[in-house]
Amino acid sequence: MAQLSDDCFAFGGELLGVDAALALIAARTAPIVEIEAVPLAEAAGRILAADRIAPFDLPPHANSAVDGYAVIHADLRSDAETLLPITGRAAAGHPLGRGVARGEAIRIFTGAAMPEGADTVMMQEDCVVEDGRVRLKPGIKEGANRRHAGEDVARGGLAVPAGRRLKPADLGLLAALGHTSLPVFRPLRAALLSTGDEVCEPGTGLQPGMIFDANRVMLAALLRGLGCSVSDLGIHPDRASGLADTLAEAAAGHDLIVTSGGVSTGEEDHVRAAIEKLGRLDFWRLAIKPGRPVALGQIRSSQGGGVPLIGLPGNPVAAALTFAILARPLILRLGGATMTPPLGFPVEAGFTYRKKPGRREYLRASLARDGNAAIAHRYKKDGAGILSSIVQSDGFAVLGEGLSDIAPGMIVDFVPFSEVFG
Ligand code: AMP
Ligand code: MG
Repeated sequence: MAQLSDDCFAFGGELLGVDAALALIAARTAPIVEIEAVPLAEAAGRILAADRIAPFDLPPHANSAVDGYAVIHADLRSDAETLLPITGRAAAGHPLGRGVARGEAIRIFTGAAMPEGADTVMMQEDCVVEDGRVRLKPGIKEGANRRHAGEDVARGGLAVPAGRRLKPADLGLLAALGHTSLPVFRPLRAALLSTGDEVCEPGTGLQPGMIFDANRVMLAALLRGLGCSVSDLGIHPDRASGLADTLAEAAAGHDLIVTSGGVSTGEEDHVRAAIEKLGRLDFWRLAIKPGRPVALGQIRSSQGGGVPLIGLPGNPVAAALTFAILARPLILRLGGATMTPPLGFPVEAGFTYRKKPGRREYLRASLARDGNAAIAHRYKKDGAGILSSIVQSDGFAVLGEGLSDIAPGMIVDFVPFSEVFG
C-alpha cells in the first residue's frame, strides 16, 4: 500500500479558500490502493484503474436503424415513386451474405447488418409492397436510417477513462466492447468513529444531557456510497488516552480514519492530542460556512509513512458539509477516482440573506419552478446542528466568496445533494 508523506496536509496560512483546499489535495495526495480485477457484473460503483480503449468499432458493422427496405440511394427517383424488386432479406444476426447491385431492394430489420453497397433504408411505413416489389416514396435523404460502424466508439477510441466510478451505462458500453473483467482499485478500508461524552448509541435509553449519535450512521453511508469498506469503531469518550490506542490500532488495518467531533480547540477536544502523539495533525481553517476547522492528519505507520485521518466537526450539518467539500474529494483521490467537481448550475435566489464577503457559504435550499426559471428557497433555519435543513432540502445554494448580501432574483449557484452525497 502506498502511504502519504509526513507533511502532505501541512498548511501554514490563516484561512484556506475551498478552491485552494481542493488544489492542495490534488497536488499532495495520490491513489494509495492496489489494483485488482473484478468481473464486469460486479464492477458497478468501483473505480476503473486503467483506460479502456475500444478494440474494434462499435457498432462493429453498419446496420439498419429501422424495419424497412435497404436500397442504393442513387436508384431512387427524386420526383416520383420508385418501384424496385425485393431480392433478399437481412435480419438482426442474419446478414444478407452478399453485396447489393443497382436496382435491388433488400427487406431489412432493425439491427441487421447493412448489405455492402446499400446506403439508405426506407422505413416500412413509407413503403407499399406489391407482387414482390416495393414502391418507395421520393424525398428520402441519402444515408437515412443507416447506423455507421464505429459511430458510438471508433476502434482505438477511449471508451471509459481510468479514474471513473463505474456507472451502469459504463458497464453496458464495456460489455458491448467484449469485456468480461475490469482492472479496478481495491476499495479503501475506512475506520470510522464518533467522539463525545454526550454521544450515545441509538437503542439505549437516553440519559439527561445525552444525545444519540447522528454522525456515525450518516458518515458510514457516505463512505460506503464512495465505495469504501467501513469498520465501525463506535463512540469514543472525550479522553485522549484510550483514543490514542484506538487510533493506533485502526491505523494498522485501514487506509483511512474518519472521526467526528472533538476537533475544535476546547478543553474537551482530545482528538488533537491523541493524533499528535501518534503522528501529525494539521488543521485546515476553511473559508466556508458552515464549517469550523477540519483536522487532517496522519497516524504514523511502521513503514514510516502515514495513514490519513480526517477529523470532521461534530455538528452534524458541519460534518456533512465538510465531508462533501473536503473529505469526499480526498477519499476519491486516495481511492484512485478522478476528482470531478460537483456540477452546480445557476438559479435565482428566492430569499434575502446577509453574507460576509471573502468566504463561501452553503445554504440548504429547495428548488421550485417559476415559469422557465428555477428558484432556490432557503431552509428557514441554518444552524450547523439543524440536520432537518438537509433532510428537508434539495441541495446547497452556494454563495461565492465575492458575493455579499443576497436579494431575491440574484443568480446563485445550486449544487444538488445528489452531486455530493451520492
Ligand atoms: P464538537 O465538535 O465535539 O465540539 O461537537 C459540536 C456539537 O456537535 C456539539 O453540540 C455536539 O454535541 C454535537 N455532536 C458531536 N458529535 C455528534 C454526533 N456524533 N451526533 C450528533 N451530534 C454530535
Ligand atoms: Mg465533542
